[in-house]
Amino acid sequence: MTTLDEALRIIRDHAIVGSETVSTEVRRAAGLVLAEDVASDMDMPAFDRAMMDGFAYRHRDVATHETMHIVATVAAGEEFTGDLAPGECVRIMTGAPVPSDADTVIPVEETREEGDRVRFEAPPPEGHHISPRGEDLVTGAVVLREGQLLGSAEVGVLAAVGRRSVRVYGPPRVAYLSTGDELLEPGEPLRPGMIRSSNSSAVHAQILALRALPHDLGIARDVEDDLREKIGRGLEHDMLLLSGGVSRGRYDLVPDVLEKLGVQLLFHRLLVKPGHPTLFGVRDRALVYGLPGNPIAALFAFELYAAPAIRAFMRHPRPSTTRYLGELTESITKRPGKETLVPCFTEWRDAGFLVRPIRTHGSADIFGMTGANAIAILPADVGHFEAGRPVPFCRLGESEGGFSRKETR
Ligand code: AMP
Ligand code: MG
Repeated sequence: MTTLDEALRIIRDHAIVGSETVSTEVRRAAGLVLAEDVASDMDMPAFDRAMMDGFAYRHRDVATHETMHIVATVAAGEEFTGDLAPGECVRIMTGAPVPSDADTVIPVEETREEGDRVRFEAPPPEGHHISPRGEDLVTGAVVLREGQLLGSAEVGVLAAVGRRSVRVYGPPRVAYLSTGDELLEPGEPLRPGMIRSSNSSAVHAQILALRALPHDLGIARDVEDDLREKIGRGLEHDMLLLSGGVSRGRYDLVPDVLEKLGVQLLFHRLLVKPGHPTLFGVRDRALVYGLPGNPIAALFAFELYAAPAIRAFMRHPRPSTTRYLGELTESITKRPGKETLVPCFTEWRDAGFLVRPIRTHGSADIFGMTGANAIAILPADVGHFEAGRPVPFCRLGESEGGFSRKETR
């Protein structure tokens, strides 16, 4: 049997890195990875820019003039093209271009106005409160490099250099198939003994949250022909996620059908609860996951095992699921021997995360875990966890692995 960390290592070793690039609208690019270097098409700032509301003037005039004559007002977006005679200044707003004759801006708080004249009470040193042209960037400087994970700040940078579309690495096409004779699509009339496939919709949402491309293969019945046909279609995608049919029951045909279709199984049983029957395999460039049928177990298995491979495909710089540490709010007892996953609600309190376990009736009870935002990962060897003890957890639906580095200037 495979431990959680071994499983993650196997997945990391077999993850496929996508190579297709696509053009996307900048406003839809967050969560994707840049496939080109992006350079600035302008100096930033593009002119000597006032950094305060105040007055722009020639520094040396202060020595010879007790008050200065206000000859114009320059708002952001305007430009003063006239000359400043000795003793003259302009009223200027933050973000406005400083007149070419001026070299200093005094904040309005340091001045007293007297009609069309102004007295400088505490004149700053020469050059103050002006951001010179090109201080942040010069034209042609690379602002974002290929391989950068795009977040909101990077999207803002792309807009600032005039981009409306950008090349990114294409996300994987992820097919999913629910298996089970008892499953109905939501909206189909209920029949005795039947349940609705909640996994299909939950997994679809999880794929979308990572910005990957979901493809619904529907529901396969627990018969070899149906499984073969649908799994065969699924294997034409970058990834195939199956749910159900991977345990040891009489109708759990998935592992057998996968092997018949040439999938090499890399692990099948995990020392993890819930999610013991989770399966992972490869065929050519397709990755295959057999997620457990039970909804909580399936959801957890996606977050822990499938999400890193999806992020790796998209070329995330940090594809692993980030783990955090937080304090348990109440004691938990479990059987030692397996790593145990517990749905929980975490929040920041004072100096760290609190981890509140959410009690469910078992891994089928998806109703019990609504509101959960994290999975606590309790180590295998320990049986009892006192309240207050720090435990590792990872967050549900986290699509980014942290802040991006400042890489260019
Ligand atoms: P299995 O591994 O196929 O025996 O499934 C384990 C449990 O998960 C069974 O109670 C199934 O009814 C349930 N299950 C399987 N697939 C789904 C699904 N798509 N949505 C909700 N429950 C499911
Ligand atoms: Mg089944």
